[in-house]
Amino acid sequence: MLQKTSHYMRQANLIGGEWVQADSGATIDVINPATTLKIGVVPKSGKAETRRAIEAAETAFHVWKKTSALERSKLLRKLHDAIMDNQDALAELLTMEQGKSLAEAKGEVGSSAAYVLWFAEEARRTYGDVVPSPWADRRILVTKEPVGVIAAITPWNFPSSMLSRKIAPALAAGCTAVVKPASQTPYSGLAWGALCEEAGFPKGAVNILTGSAGEIGDEMCSNPLVKKLTFTGSTEIGKMLMAKCASTVKKVSMELGGNAPFIVFDDADLDRAVEGAITAKYRNSGQTCVCTNRFFAQAGIYDRFVERLAAASNKLKVGPGLEEGTQQGPLIDDKAVEKVEEFVKDAESKGGKVVTGGKRHALGGSFFEPTVISDATPDMMFMKEEIFGPVAPVFRFDTEEEAVKLANDTEFGLASYFYTSNLGRAVRVMEGLKYGMVGVNEGLITTPEAPFGGVKESGLGREGGHQGIEDYLDTKYVCMGGLGL
Ligand code: ADP
Repeated sequence: MLQKTSHYMRQANLIGGEWVQADSGATIDVINPATTLKIGVVPKSGKAETRRAIEAAETAFHVWKKTSALERSKLLRKLHDAIMDNQDALAELLTMEQGKSLAEAKGEVGSSAAYVLWFAEEARRTYGDVVPSPWADRRILVTKEPVGVIAAITPWNFPSSMLSRKIAPALAAGCTAVVKPASQTPYSGLAWGALCEEAGFPKGAVNILTGSAGEIGDEMCSNPLVKKLTFTGSTEIGKMLMAKCASTVKKVSMELGGNAPFIVFDDADLDRAVEGAITAKYRNSGQTCVCTNRFFAQAGIYDRFVERLAAASNKLKVGPGLEEGTQQGPLIDDKAVEKVEEFVKDAESKGGKVVTGGKRHALGGSFFEPTVISDATPDMMFMKEEIFGPVAPVFRFDTEEEAVKLANDTEFGLASYFYTSNLGRAVRVMEGLKYGMVGVNEGLITTPEAPFGGVKESGLGREGGHQGIEDYLDTKYVCMGGLGL
């Protein structure tokens, strides 16, 4: 498999169909978080390379926008097949640079392919309208057109699928793209270049840059040829990018931070709730923006839930992602571990009790034990901040109103989950949660068919669903007169 994996491990950038190095020749090391050993390097590109990539995308746009929806759909299907034919190799590459278990990496690559297939289908459904006209002699048409060149910046936690949700709808809509994967996990991003070449997309349709986030990001935000910026990452950087995009009034889509609540009511099916809790907390070792940040358990079920959650957390097999049977890989780097340690220390100093885990794993490096903390209170750090690690704090509550109020007491509004067997409560709570996504008796809800995205400071726009292509389209109103009617 390694031979195939190395085919996708590109240590170069893709600009206008050419695999190139940075102008300066500078590179960035890429580290395997499970071993802390260097895997390879990628170019450290900056402003000049970004400008060339944008110009290449603009040239390609004039050709690509003229293709038919059916043509684009067929190429996207080829891209889907190329991903699935190489799922194992791409998953191995992902695990090597990101750390997650091979099983999760395969799942992520499968999800990337699923988004591509979805948008291959949606490419053919970007319908406009013919609107009844108030004038007898004029006709009103509303059409959809691709916005043009789009720029995308993605994080390290889902280095393959975060790009899929941006590249696929862009190409489906008739846009071309310049993308920057995160420096920690660039190979899964660069692999999109090789895959797009294999599928037969024209040169310049997808350009991929690695390097200085500031320089690449600044050029993307200020270059007038870029018509839209789509970003997944922290709220802090997202706000900065939005401000920069204001100077050229670009469309923006932002998938930012979350602070997901997971509420377990007394009437919940406990087995189901614990199973959902494990998935919603520990996927990617807690490093996802939809991972549960705060568990709220009702007083009558609190002790049983904590006990069962701790037992299930304790059973998770921690290890290098490439090792058979691993369920929890390492965290991305030591800084991430230090941050998690800070959360645990803060909780303990305020009366929280570590029920299981709580410290670095015996494997060393950036491995951390799956951790459950009981007696969590709102003055603890994880009430407000994203943990991004395998720590599950459990808060106690008495009434439904209190649970919804606590859950909503955050500036974030991405994913939320709750467990109940009462139908009336399900509807009340579902409507009461100020979140872009709600899982009712479900802990894993992401799928290409549904619109993924947040409200409040968790972002703008949706990825997936029929909504996912809208952000890549402009609406044009055409009034046809002089028809001699
Ligand atoms: P995370 O902590 O999830 O990596 P960040 O928001 O720091 O979240 O990073 C997400 C992506 O944004 C990464 O690709 C990173 O390189 C990029 N990024 C970070 N700083 C900037 C910046 N100043 N301009 C543009 N992109 C940036």
